[in-house]
Amino acid sequence: MHKITSSYNFFNIKYYDKFISEAINEGYSFMTLKEFYTKKPDNLKIFILRHDLDQKPHSLENMLNVERKYNIKSTIFVRPLAKEYNVYGYDTFKMLINAQKEGYEIGLHTSFIEFSIINKLDPIKVMETELNILRNYFDILGVTPHRDINYMYNSLPELEKSWSIIKNKFGLIYQGYDKLLFERFIYINEGFNPHLCWRNKTPEQAIKMKQSIYLNTHSHWWFKDHAFEH
Ligand SMILES: [Zn+2]
Repeated sequence: MHKITSSYNFFNIKYYDKFISEAINEGYSFMTLKEFYTKKPDNLKIFILRHDLDQKPHSLENMLNVERKYNIKSTIFVRPLAKEYNVYGYDTFKMLINAQKEGYEIGLHTSFIEFSIINKLDPIKVMETELNILRNYFDILGVTPHRDINYMYNSLPELEKSWSIIKNKFGLIYQGYDKLLFERFIYINEGFNPHLCWRNKTPEQAIKMKQSIYLNTHSHWWFKDHAFEH
């Protein structure tokens, strides 16, 4: 029988491992967003790994295991108000609290506009709720807006508009789309054109440019064995 081995989709864990080891060999320093904001390093080759945990939270384990192998830390944005998972689900909480103990950073992946529109609530109060839910156990210093793939209810414009109020009121130090990040880093994320791909550059292309890299991934698209394992 003829065996088909090739796949159009290359978002697998071996590939994740490959470009991270490439970046390490090229002399990149990996750090969390909190580290970047608190230390303000002038290093030219910083690599920030960001995970937006949108759904299927345990798909993140594969990626964390690669990062553990190289002893590097990422920033994980979690959704306290989501249909798709429960941050306090026994296994999910355990995964996240252990990651925090190991030095990974947990941040808020907010849906404050979406939730406040659907339920006719005050958006700032919704964000306060999200932060309260997380802050009982997690040190949240950063926030980044979630936007569903259907592109409804974008929280980013509102977050930008009210950022100085939100930042001070809740003691935050950054939001994930700060101008500073886009000035200092090459931003890389997944996108659809029409299927899953890198939106602009690939990590390998960015590494060749020898500039700081801010990589945003969604673990539910990354697989070890096959694309439907999670
Ligand atoms: Zn998201």
